[in-house]
Amino acid sequence: MQENNTKRLDEIKDQVLHCTQCPLHKHRIHAVFGEGPYDAPIFIIGEAPGAKEDETGRPFVGRAGKLIDELLQEYGLSRNKNVFISNIVKCRPPKNRVPDKKEVNLCFSYIEKQIALINPGILVLLGATALKSFTGTHEKITNVRGKWWKEDGRVIIPTYHPAAVFRNPAYRKFIKQDIQTISDQYQAW
Ligand code: SF4
Repeated sequence: MQENNTKRLDEIKDQVLHCTQCPLHKHRIHAVFGEGPYDAPIFIIGEAPGAKEDETGRPFVGRAGKLIDELLQEYGLSRNKNVFISNIVKCRPPKNRVPDKKEVNLCFSYIEKQIALINPGILVLLGATALKSFTGTHEKITNVRGKWWKEDGRVIIPTYHPAAVFRNPAYRKFIKQDIQTISDQYQAW
């Protein structure tokens, strides 16, 4: 990783931590930049921080985060080694509601810059908000998960948000299948 990119990412982190661009900053304890190596080949994108993330300033540290970490570990993937993990919006929406279009639009440049600088080969979109924000599609995540495609030289893999498993335990096996796909693409990368 170029020293310059590390410096730019640290600058963006600082901007995120102090950002007041949208009303979500009024309710947050911490903005959550993301976590993982700055040269990670895999970049996982969720929706928004939840209560634990807001409290700690770290992404995916609640129940859903533990589940995704556990499933990734089974394939030798982790945020300590080869995965960067972040969200479409960096501040927690009140009561964990879905971020609205205006909030997503105002925050989107941060994730765009993170992707450009980290330059991952594989982008994983967790859940409907990440899928819609990236592709503009109105397709349901159920219809596109299990498929992958290439865009701007990157492999894009959509899957369920791990929080969905707590509403429907059957989704666990689908997320596992999609992590197998991530792992296969990583081996081939
Ligand atoms: S959600 Fe994004 S745009 Fe809104 S205040 Fe937080 S960092 Fe800024």
